[in-house]
Amino acid sequence: MHIIFQLDLILTIQQTTKKRKPEWLLKKVFFAQQKDVEIALKDIGIHTVCQEAKCPNMSECFSKKLATFMILGSTCTRACSYCNVDTGMPSGIDEKEPQKVADAVVSLGLKHVVITSVTRDDLKDGGAQQFVKCVKAIKDMDESITVELLIPDLQYDEKALSDVANCGAEVVGHNMETVPRLYSVRKGANYKKSLGVLKSLKKANPKLKTKSAFMLGLGENEDELKTSLQDLLDVECTLLTMGQYLAPSKAHAEVVEYINPKKFEEYGELALEMGFEFVKSSPYTRSSYMAHEYFDEK
Ligand code: SF4
Repeated sequence: MHIIFQLDLILTIQQTTKKRKPEWLLKKVFFAQQKDVEIALKDIGIHTVCQEAKCPNMSECFSKKLATFMILGSTCTRACSYCNVDTGMPSGIDEKEPQKVADAVVSLGLKHVVITSVTRDDLKDGGAQQFVKCVKAIKDMDESITVELLIPDLQYDEKALSDVANCGAEVVGHNMETVPRLYSVRKGANYKKSLGVLKSLKKANPKLKTKSAFMLGLGENEDELKTSLQDLLDVECTLLTMGQYLAPSKAHAEVVEYINPKKFEEYGELALEMGFEFVKSSPYTRSSYMAHEYFDEK
């Protein structure tokens, strides 16, 4: 699956590359804490990226009744070398999905919702209308619920991007994932065009907050990262997450470096100094990790 925008999906708890995991990445999973949310989601019949990706933060997030919904199925039409989601030809669209998402939001009592999707190159609008419908279903139930969308590139279609930018979501994210030199890990993606996605979203709705993410440890250096952070600021993207890349299997792109938590802190401080408004930066940070905090801090 290509989920360029899905840092969440690729950072799984199984690390099978040759390098030994440092102690700061040996996070314990408490399955009992996840159970209630897992049962609720199963009853409603909705996918979460948390489960599809076996996200290492699942116990923590589910115990706080936080989850990131994954719409448009669980099969992706691309195949990025860092991503663990199934690749293939997905089947149609579940027309009942927007209501299911809204039901799940109510069932979990969420005040802030994060919705993402697999990449759907088979759909004319890349799935944009399904995002729009999900936001409408949630806002129809309770307008005060804030919504964050983490979108694929929607094949860089300006109309699709504009529809999503203006659908009522407070935040729309698209992940850069890595620096331009390493973009070969993102099959079918292009660094400049990904930046263009963020630029187009902001152009279509200047009031919208845009967000992006980097996975670190693929071999980028500090100067390259700094340049990419500036690239984001230049397109007025001011919400940012940075986390450690973990290879899902030996067949995936290899981890080049395990970055020390201290360094993550430094990068986070650097980003704030550069002008980002909200930054989360730590080894286990994922695109959607504690995303509600942006609104809590406002
Ligand atoms: S970090 Fe995001 S993907 Fe991972 S469990 Fe939390 S909400 Fe789900």
